[in-house]
Amino acid sequence: MLSLTAFLFPSCPDLLLEEMTCEGQTLFLTVRSSKQAVACSVCEHIAVKVHSRYTRSLADLSLMEYAVVLRVQVRRFFCSNPACVRQTFAEPFADLAVAHARRTSRQASRLSAIAKELGGRPAARESENVQMPVSRHTLLRLLRRCPVPEAPTPRVLGVDDWSIRKGQTYGTLLVDLERHRIVEVLPDREAQTLQAWLTVHPGVEIISRDRAGTYAQGASKGAPTAIHTNLHSHMPDRYEGSK
Ligand SMILES: [Zn+2]
Repeated sequence: MLSLTAFLFPSCPDLLLEEMTCEGQTLFLTVRSSKQAVACSVCEHIAVKVHSRYTRSLADLSLMEYAVVLRVQVRRFFCSNPACVRQTFAEPFADLAVAHARRTSRQASRLSAIAKELGGRPAARESENVQMPVSRHTLLRLLRRCPVPEAPTPRVLGVDDWSIRKGQTYGTLLVDLERHRIVEVLPDREAQTLQAWLTVHPGVEIISRDRAGTYAQGASKGAPTAIHTNLHSHMPDRYEGSK
């Protein structure tokens, strides 16, 4: 029979589930590594002597209407190599999450997919519906981290800002309005950034945008021959994922 740990963490064969507790609508799963020895992150010498332990919290995929938080018991090891620059190092949980992340890789990837599919506010709402609530700011950061696959330059481009609330903007979404997919996430909403993107992506014929000021300036300089239209007559409620 499949063990519970193997069922919950199919891609983490070295993980052990120690404890499961429930507080409100959140399940807390305490996990640790079953490995006796770990290779040093710098010199790769095998280390067995534990220096200290601490708990790392990782938000994970929700389970049966419950939010899930992993409490990962992390060991810090002494490096056994006297010549190594690292005296101690924390064991990595590479199968579970990238270094310093606050969520598991599988949660990050699910949230990125939701952000790509739905865009700003609807994506943040959906993240709450599926018990993995995150802000639009976090969704934008996740999107920026995941590479946008090469897509053909759109003929009809939607330019939309991504804001948490009025007056606070964190980026610009460029959407192919014919294919209904995000082609790029720009890190700000400056005219120069949009202009630079348009300059290296010639071929945009129609630019559909909001906000007369900044985007108009960037759009006319970057794509002087393109026709400009009002964004809200074109922008779909949902963006199709890039993959
Ligand atoms: Zn070392």
